[in-house]
Amino acid sequence: MNVLVINCGSSSLKYQFIDMTSEEVLAKGLVERIGIEGSILKHQTTGKDKVSIEQPMHDHKIALQLVLEALMNSEYGAIKDLKEIAAVGHRVVHGGEAFSHSALIDEHVKKAIEDCIELAPLHNPPNLIGINACQEILPNVPMVAVFDTAFHQTMPKSSYLYGLPYEYYEKYKVRRYGFHGTSHKYVAQKTAEILNKNLEDINIITCHLGNGASVTAVEKGHSVDTSMGFTPLEGLIMGTRCGDIDPAMVTFLMEKENLSTAQINDVMNKKSGVLGISKVSSDFRDIETEAEKGNENAKIALETYYKKVKKYIGAYMAEMGSVDAIVFTAGLGENSSSARLAICGGMEGIGIEIDAKENDMRGEEKVVSKPSSKISVLVVPTNEELMIARDTLEIVKSI
Ligand code: ADP
Repeated sequence: MNVLVINCGSSSLKYQFIDMTSEEVLAKGLVERIGIEGSILKHQTTGKDKVSIEQPMHDHKIALQLVLEALMNSEYGAIKDLKEIAAVGHRVVHGGEAFSHSALIDEHVKKAIEDCIELAPLHNPPNLIGINACQEILPNVPMVAVFDTAFHQTMPKSSYLYGLPYEYYEKYKVRRYGFHGTSHKYVAQKTAEILNKNLEDINIITCHLGNGASVTAVEKGHSVDTSMGFTPLEGLIMGTRCGDIDPAMVTFLMEKENLSTAQINDVMNKKSGVLGISKVSSDFRDIETEAEKGNENAKIALETYYKKVKKYIGAYMAEMGSVDAIVFTAGLGENSSSARLAICGGMEGIGIEIDAKENDMRGEEKVVSKPSSKISVLVVPTNEELMIARDTLEIVKSI
């Protein structure tokens, strides 16, 4: 059984086509610049050459049509007939309080996703557009929505409520939702597997450190707290996002700099984070290079970032009472040995002993702590697409 996994952004469409018997990726690709000049599809079927197809794609439906044509192409495709697509799994960013699990898409589910647009105005609309385009082209193929927020719906109220008047939660559902749930769930499961333990018997802190970044406390397989909040702006310092700040600074800066709500939002989302501090780049590779050359702003950006991750690790250790493993994933977490070393360094006294030698690698699934470390430290490359495909398969099998 083959599952097509779709992740739609406002002008992009990422996909993977996975054989669920072997869990092998048969083909994958990316469409960029949908609806703007220079639309391009980059497709690769495993074992065949990569192809780039440049042609105007003024909406997601046309993009998807091209993706399906590429999948069926006799030269560089992976299938002969659309019937070989048994199901489609869609990544949906926000499921609000309505979804604690993935769901088979019907009109009711689509309405619920639409109701969450207010909570994720940049993400849910393109997700819905992707679902509608797929349904138009593949009307008889079952489709499943997999939500970034679903894994965190197990958080207790004490983790998801803010110190604001309760009526705002009642009226507007202002609360912590958390994101990257599919990734946190995947690496937590993988960690248990690698440690040869039952997920239900252990506590894990998962650090998803990419452009967007979040840390989650996973107690016996369930998310009990996470650093992102009402939106993906809260928590860690990120590539361009500020993460936790004193909320009083928002109105202070708006007054001082004469900024509108849109402008301050832009500052906090796009001009802050390690980009804002370093004045170099939002890309950690550039910042690491500059820091090595002695750029003080780049150095302090990295140090501030590392300290913030450390703080969340400490907080979640205290919150869960005991922790068996800390796991790093996503762009920086998987690839930057220096970031892992800096974050875990100096925590020997609380049971975390990273092994500098074992840690000196990138992108491998590996335990990087010393055998004497009370808490294991791991690197686990994330695989959100596989997780979406697994959920899709499970739901579709039961209908
Ligand atoms: P996204 O949130 O966009 O999915 P990724 O998980 O791909 O992001 O992570 C992107 C981030 O990972 C970038 O800031 C990039 O600098 C960082 N990164 C990727 N490879 C490395 C590396 N070898 N060393 C340091 N940072 C890296």
